[in-house]
Amino acid sequence: MREARELAFIENLAKLLSELLRADHVMIAEVFDDAPETAQIVTFYSRGEFQPTVSYELNGSPCEQVLSTESCVFREGVCESFPQDAMLQQLGAASYVGVPMLTADQTKLGLLAILNDQPADYDGTVLELLQVAAAQAAAELAQLRISRNLQESQRRLQTLMNSLPGMAYRCKNDEHWTMEIVSRGVFDLTGYRPQDLIQNKRISWARLIHPEDQNTVNEAIEQATLRHQYFRIAYRIICADDQIRWVWEQGKGVENAEGKVTHFEGFILDVTEQHQHQEHIAEIAFRDELTGLANRAALLDHLQNEYEHNPQQDYLLVLLDLKYFRNVNERFGLHAGDRLLRLVAQRLQDGANNYDDMVKIARVTGDEFVVLVKSSAEKVEQFLTVAGHLKQFFDTPLLIGEHQLDVYLRMSGSFSYRAESAAELLQQASIAMYEAKQHELNYCVFDEALERKVSAERHQTERFLQALAQGELSIALQPQIDLATGQCVGAEALCRWHDQELGHVSPGIFIDIARKQGVLAELGIQVLTKTCSLMKEWQQRYGQLPKVSVNVGAQQFAAPDVVEDFLSICKGIEAQAVTLEITESDLMIDPQLALTVTRRLRDHGFRLAIDDFGTGYSSLAYLQQFAVDILKIDMSFVQAMIKDESSKTLVNTIIAMAQTLGLETIAEGIETAEQAQLLKELGCQGGQGYYFGRPVPPEEFAKTWLE
Ligand code: C2E
Ligand code: MG
Ligand code: MG
Repeated sequence: MREARELAFIENLAKLLSELLRADHVMIAEVFDDAPETAQIVTFYSRGEFQPTVSYELNGSPCEQVLSTESCVFREGVCESFPQDAMLQQLGAASYVGVPMLTADQTKLGLLAILNDQPADYDGTVLELLQVAAAQAAAELAQLRISRNLQESQRRLQTLMNSLPGMAYRCKNDEHWTMEIVSRGVFDLTGYRPQDLIQNKRISWARLIHPEDQNTVNEAIEQATLRHQYFRIAYRIICADDQIRWVWEQGKGVENAEGKVTHFEGFILDVTEQHQHQEHIAEIAFRDELTGLANRAALLDHLQNEYEHNPQQDYLLVLLDLKYFRNVNERFGLHAGDRLLRLVAQRLQDGANNYDDMVKIARVTGDEFVVLVKSSAEKVEQFLTVAGHLKQFFDTPLLIGEHQLDVYLRMSGSFSYRAESAAELLQQASIAMYEAKQHELNYCVFDEALERKVSAERHQTERFLQALAQGELSIALQPQIDLATGQCVGAEALCRWHDQELGHVSPGIFIDIARKQGVLAELGIQVLTKTCSLMKEWQQRYGQLPKVSVNVGAQQFAAPDVVEDFLSICKGIEAQAVTLEITESDLMIDPQLALTVTRRLRDHGFRLAIDDFGTGYSSLAYLQQFAVDILKIDMSFVQAMIKDESSKTLVNTIIAMAQTLGLETIAEGIETAEQAQLLKELGCQGGQGYYFGRPVPPEEFAKTWLE
């Protein structure tokens, strides 16, 4: 490892000392921290000749004493004193003087020793001379060690740099990014060799960077340098074979003494594959496979980008819904439905090409498309104009197989100045679409009025959920009358919500909220609990138990322990006294489940009534399977039958059929004596309505009907 020249000084020193002091042997040895028991001879000048350099064990040698104490002098008999020291024995020396080699900061690097074959008298001058010589040797060796360490770490760095994937570099902070150091990996990365790039011999790094990415790279490096941070950038390079590859670079500025960034150091990796993979993923994630249009994610991404980077540009988002699309699927099959969607996408795209302001088309859900339009000042007018154009795109019918299909659109719009994010903008258009569907409109714009309505609904929902959680709902009772005798035979429990701020809210509204919020089962439990405790109270006070009906929603059937819950709430009351009212349409939501649950409830003695009968589409024969006891004729027929012959016939038929099947009938919504009389004549057993009594709070009901 050592080049002879580096040691010339020390060798000369040994020789000089031997001559000056007439010493038979002069030895200079190093000791390293990682092996303190061994000395490594640096030079050994013995009897006028340099000997091969070896290492020897310090243990049991005079040198060991030199290293552990200070200088050592043995005037005679040194061989006998250190019988273990093999080298000493071999030399057969009689006297010995050794001094430690100390650097300026007193680090021991080894020792310097002279030995003589004869006993000798060494005076203080000799020792002093040796100490000076040892200090010089130490200084020289220290220098050697430093340069050796440096070489070693450079060698390691080189190996490391060359074995790294990609390339490591050091370049000047100039317009060419002039390379000073480039690792071998550059060849695999670019097809150029290190020497092609160093000092821009063949090409500069700046020229490898793709022209479209030059600015991005320069800016990123500038920004990071200003903040004294690492820059991390992905960009394209043009390789020696003209191929374009994606690279990823991380680097940092190197400052000179004045704090000026003169160089950059870092490394560059090939990320082409990852990039292609990412592009592929993005393509899949951002494209609607069926139509090739942007999908919902792509639309939101695009819009959000606009919100962030181009906030002064207003947009109109038009949401289009294909009316009767389900019919196409059902009549002609899913395949035809897919084809229709593809053709619609095509029409939209072709049409939009004629309008510069229609900047993006997307398919967001099944049959809903979005056309994004650059917006100008006139708001609603613009929507109507755009909607008119979009409608025109479909003036001629679409051809699917041999079928000609007319496309009817329902459109809603929202404006970006009203929404704070892309997601909100799309949601507003969806709300307007919902509104349009609710009211069977072809167009609806999300405007201030709708916004107010939506926020009022949200507020209402919040307050309702709070009222439900705090058990603030109450019940009202409406009497059920035996039409033949005029006696009250039962009552229907109806849920009531009185809110301090909103006042009385009709069940039509809050039952709907509960259904949408998925808490109808909880509401049902509260109503049943209140009803049952009321019934127990009445039983004690009046000694009689009137039959009470409670309304049950389809959501309640889906609760896992409905039957057990009902039984435990009704404990202490005869199940016969409780009638559960279920609307015809609720039964049809999941008939199989309804069938299982209603059968089990009935097995436990509960009576079942079908509410609002006649408004659903189920056949009576089908309803038979549910083993119901009572049919409640919907109030719409009751109220129409006086004037309208066909309603009267219908009511008549229902009653007759019910009688045949052994079912009891109760007519709802009786408001006049005439209605009551007619129903009685037609054979209807029970009646309920304002004519007999409105739903009232429990105390009032008890006072009027029970006392
Ligand atoms: P429903 O079960 O058909 O209740 C009868 C509705 O008709 C009640 O409306 C009642 O006040 C009203 N009514 C009774 N007699 C007359 C009349 O002579 N003329 C007119 N015009 N209306 C009359 P309400 O209390 O507004 O309840 C509406 C609906 O809300 C109920 O219809 C029922 O489906 C539902 N509902 C009420 N409470 C509950 C409940 O605790 N649970 C469930 N799931 N639904 C409930
Ligand atoms: Mg009812
Ligand atoms: Mg009803």
